[in-house]
Amino acid sequence: MSMSLVTLLYLVASVCFIQALKGLSHPTTSIRGNVFGMSGMAIAVLTTIALIHGQARALNIDFGTGIAYVLVALVVGGGLGAFMANKVEMTKMPELVAFMHSMIGLAAVFIAVAAVAEPWAFSITPAPVAAAIGSVTANGAVLIDGVLRYAIPTGNRLELFLGAAIGAITFSGSVIAFGKLSGKYKFRLFQGASVQFKGQHKLNLVLGLLTLALGLLFVATESWTAFFAMLALAFVMGVLIIIPIGGADMPVVVSMLNSYSGWAAAGIGFSLNNAMLIIAGSLVGSSGAILSYIMCKAMNRSFFNVILGGFGGEATTAASGAKEQRPVKSGSADDAAFVLSNAETVVIVPGYGLAVARAQHAVKELAQKLTDKGITVKYAIHPVAGRMPGHMNVLLAEAEVPYDQVFEMEDINGEFGQVDVAIILGANDVVNPAAHTKGSPIYGMPILEAYKAKTVIVNKRSMAAGYAGLDNELFYMDKTMMVFGDAKKVVEDMGKAIE
Ligand code: NDP
Repeated sequence: MSMSLVTLLYLVASVCFIQALKGLSHPTTSIRGNVFGMSGMAIAVLTTIALIHGQARALNIDFGTGIAYVLVALVVGGGLGAFMANKVEMTKMPELVAFMHSMIGLAAVFIAVAAVAEPWAFSITPAPVAAAIGSVTANGAVLIDGVLRYAIPTGNRLELFLGAAIGAITFSGSVIAFGKLSGKYKFRLFQGASVQFKGQHKLNLVLGLLTLALGLLFVATESWTAFFAMLALAFVMGVLIIIPIGGADMPVVVSMLNSYSGWAAAGIGFSLNNAMLIIAGSLVGSSGAILSYIMCKAMNRSFFNVILGGFGGEATTAASGAKEQRPVKSGSADDAAFVLSNAETVVIVPGYGLAVARAQHAVKELAQKLTDKGITVKYAIHPVAGRMPGHMNVLLAEAEVPYDQVFEMEDINGEFGQVDVAIILGANDVVNPAAHTKGSPIYGMPILEAYKAKTVIVNKRSMAAGYAGLDNELFYMDKTMMVFGDAKKVVEDMGKAIE
């Protein structure tokens, strides 16, 4: 295959990726976006295989054995990926995403190590040749045991250093994020709560400078020792950057690691001189960075602090251990149905618990019944509700909730003061007024101001805290009625009571 055809096909694949990102920006076009993404990836993979085939033929190298390894890896990796994606529950998506980021980071590290070990296999240098002692050594080539080995050009060393370092940080950071998001493991670093110690930021700074110094040493000398020491420090840094982040700040971490994984891939693309990898990596890197910025704005956090892993740095006061028992008003699903039936305007606030209970279809039916009675029903979506960006939009889209009933936080917050009933289904942190209290771990995070509604109904199974581990004053307010139970059962019962 000619180079101009390869370039053209890579260009087509890149356009597909851009269209994929565009399509995925709205639920109505997301399926089209996915089709574009899959088509782009298929074109990119097939073109790369054809490119390698051409290069192998030109160099008279055995193509069959190499491609057999690649195909086995594609079938095993692709099969495992398809199995996991098919099996994963919607609420476990962030862990899967963190796992995938860690794999991208590790792949970048492996490629960098292989390229440093045998740069000629990646066309970075000419292949080593047998040479007699006393032969002229040029272009930084060194003669070792009768073999002339060419030095890796400085530019490539820099790219390999950056790709490997970012890859290592992405890998270990994503492993910690995976543990924190799953919440299943007892290991302290995998707990949702922030892990902080004295001098943490100074240590991060020193490690960062040392990693940079070792990387530059590798760039200057091509020293294996410097390269591996740099890698080891980058792995430690990945852990240290993510452990102080806890609770409500995790969504930003997921998109930040997404961005890092893209930059790691782009760095390796430069080393391998592969335009497709550079473009795809840059698209992931920049879209992840933009998403992180949007999430930071939504969470009222500093983008700069997030990148440095410094946010969440204030001492947290997350409620843990024994909590004082305080009285709350509670009612049944029938009581809630009665209140809802007598309202003129109802705003539904879905949260993580709704996704766990898979109650989206029941909610849609309940909303339909209320609408049939002439009640105005709207859904209020917080940008970090659930466990992944857009989680609630996807959930409601699955139940075919009309898009014109769904409102983003900034569009609906001004209305809560006039709303008769705000019904909160499996949400907690995103409606927690503690966000207005200085010193709270979620201080400054914008919330859905459901507490302003005339009456508040909250459905959850117990008085347990949400993801950030905080008590919620909203549950104790005079105008709040708690309806305990699984969201699906409770919402279905409410629906039955409204005939
Ligand atoms: P929260 O995690 O704050 O609260 C969910 C509530 O749902 C819990 O208090 C739980 O209480 C209740 N619940 C659980 N299961 C059920 C069920 N079957 N039926 C009814 N209720 C149930 O969720 P929010 O959506 O309010 O907030 C999301 C949190 O997750 C934020 O802190 C956000 O930062 C974080 N996060 C978000 C990510 C994202 O990208 N969106 C990624 C990572 C973290 P109980 O056990 O008593 O039922």
